Amino acid sequence: MLTTPHSLVGATIAVLVPNPALSIPLAIGSHFILDSIPHWQEILYPYKITYKTWIRLPIDITLAVFLVNIISTHSQITANTVWLTAFAANIPDFDSIGMIWKPSLKNKLFKGYYDWHCAIQRETSSFWGVATQVIISLGSLSISLR
Ligand SMILES: [Zn+2]
Repeated sequence: MLTTPHSLVGATIAVLVPNPALSIPLAIGSHFILDSIPHWQEILYPYKITYKTWIRLPIDITLAVFLVNIISTHSQITANTVWLTAFAANIPDFDSIGMIWKPSLKNKLFKGYYDWHCAIQRETSSFWGVATQVIISLGSLSISLR
């Protein structure tokens, strides 16, 4: 799933559970649940990065930062908690380093996690995959900004 819905769900978790000792692990856990929901991605397994990724990534991250900032500004929760939890919701995707730096996949523990993370992905056709992420993002915004 893209960075924006992961970040917004993470920020929403911070609004609902303001204690970072709880919200951060919950945000990390939410990542895997979201990855198992059908979603669109510009590249599919075995994830060979193309120019589309280099176009999508800055747009996705900018949108995530913009929207998390809105949540952070409007919520009663400490901004650090909102940002930290939104960031934590994306930590599981840091294994993407395995796509760029292949030697990292020689580490059995890392490769085991990488393979499992790839296996739980449910990528689907563009329209429905985008629709699920828009619904998740708007749902998160409506909960966190109420
Ligand atoms: Zn992921």
